[in-house]
Amino acid sequence: AKRNLDKVMLYDDLEPGSTNILDRMVLMGEMELALERGDIQWHLQPKVDLAASRPTGFEALARWRHSRFGPIAPDAFITAIEGSKLIWPFTLATIDAALGHLQRLGPTHPHLSISVNVSARVLQQPGLVEHVIQKLDSAGIDPRRLVLELTETALISNPSQARKVLDELATRGIDLSIDDFGAGFTSFGYLRDFMVREIKIDKSYILNLTERSFDQSLVTCLAVFCEARGLRLVAEGVETPECLARLLELGCRYGQGYGIGRPMTIDAALTWIVEQEAGAGDGALAPPLED
Ligand code: C2E
Ligand code: MG
Ligand code: MG
Ligand code: MG
Repeated sequence: AKRNLDKVMLYDDLEPGSTNILDRMVLMGEMELALERGDIQWHLQPKVDLAASRPTGFEALARWRHSRFGPIAPDAFITAIEGSKLIWPFTLATIDAALGHLQRLGPTHPHLSISVNVSARVLQQPGLVEHVIQKLDSAGIDPRRLVLELTETALISNPSQARKVLDELATRGIDLSIDDFGAGFTSFGYLRDFMVREIKIDKSYILNLTERSFDQSLVTCLAVFCEARGLRLVAEGVETPECLARLLELGCRYGQGYGIGRPMTIDAALTWIVEQEAGAGDGALAPPLED
């Protein structure tokens, strides 16, 4: 079916990269149905305090298991959604899922947070703040347990609108986290202008941390900066115990990655927490530091 779609392409003004525009339209139609049917799930990946060796929360990552194509990675559909009107229902579903997960965690783990990824374009959607606040209210969830992850482009593309929305959310106690820090057009200006509470160093600086002195210097520098500004510094892409140990030496206190925990279902996450607390995990987490 894919091949046939390519042949029906009649537009000769499209860039080679956009030859799959019809595929994309098909994908979006499927996405609309998937959202209606609840076929998209949000798995949870632990974010841990490396020094205390304990989870502080989870990041919600979209997982779409298609009936015919199998699992589709978020990178394959998020960009397409971002360019369509589906980004709004998708975001609403993301927030609903996160609140549902927070409710499941609540009774036993009221201190754990959930981070959701938010696309730049959503900041321009009227009613975003009201929606989030109203949902938190009716679910009876402390806003401090919800964290929004935005990439740098989100803040740079429309700074004044972004600022208005994010200030309102921050005032309500919702933390703002800068995702993939260093991967794009990094600027320190918005760290001053926005009420940022957390910086997540892009995994491209973490995956080879133990071999690269440049990456180590960058982590050190960000650790000093975050300490001085009262920000949480999170390393993404922590795959090995060596990397984890080095992060602690360099002063980076929080981490996330396959070496700590993979994205998992809420049920698996609840089990994972209990195992961590019982010290019965696979030993991926570093032992607590001695003071
Ligand atoms: P992200 O927000 O930076 O999420 C981290 C990505 O790195 C996830 O990929 C995660 O599975 C992966 N990852 C985690 N630990 C490791 C590790 O140790 N090594 C390596 N190599 N990778 C690791 P995923 O789930 O494929 O998501 C990719 C991106 O898609 C996310 O990047 C985020 O930008 C976007 N995304 C995912 N879910 C959503 C969503 O619900 N809404 C929006 N707007 N974007 C989403
Ligand atoms: Mg993220
Ligand atoms: Mg990231
Ligand atoms: Mg990313």
